[in-house]
Amino acid sequence: MKKILVVDDSSTMRKIIRRTLRQTGLAFDDVLEAENGIEALSVLAGDPAIRVVLSDINMPEMNGIELVTQLRTQHDATALGVVMVTTEGGEAMVKTAMERGANGYVTKPFTPDAIKDALEVHLG
Ligand SMILES: [Mg+2]
Repeated sequence: MKKILVVDDSSTMRKIIRRTLRQTGLAFDDVLEAENGIEALSVLAGDPAIRVVLSDINMPEMNGIELVTQLRTQHDATALGVVMVTTEGGEAMVKTAMERGANGYVTKPFTPDAIKDALEVHLG
């Protein structure tokens, strides 16, 4: 089983990412969702089949930077991929996320190919 966890406080963005994931042609069994870092940690704790987390940066409760920081205390970068989704102008935040252990990032608006390139290695 290979699952993807999509973390974003916008339900519209989660829907767009879900649709984009279907367009990538990547092989995965399921897509799970969480609306902030706290919820993401709880979903991850209950599902070891999650291979990669695709996470927004700006979210209430726990943001993407705090999430990747927490995740790297539990899972190393080969066991669980963490890919940030960022907006243009979010370079400083992305740099911080990469320093905290994110594997990569995609910038909105993203194409199916950009998502595929960032996720493929974690679903192999
Ligand atoms: Mg957000």
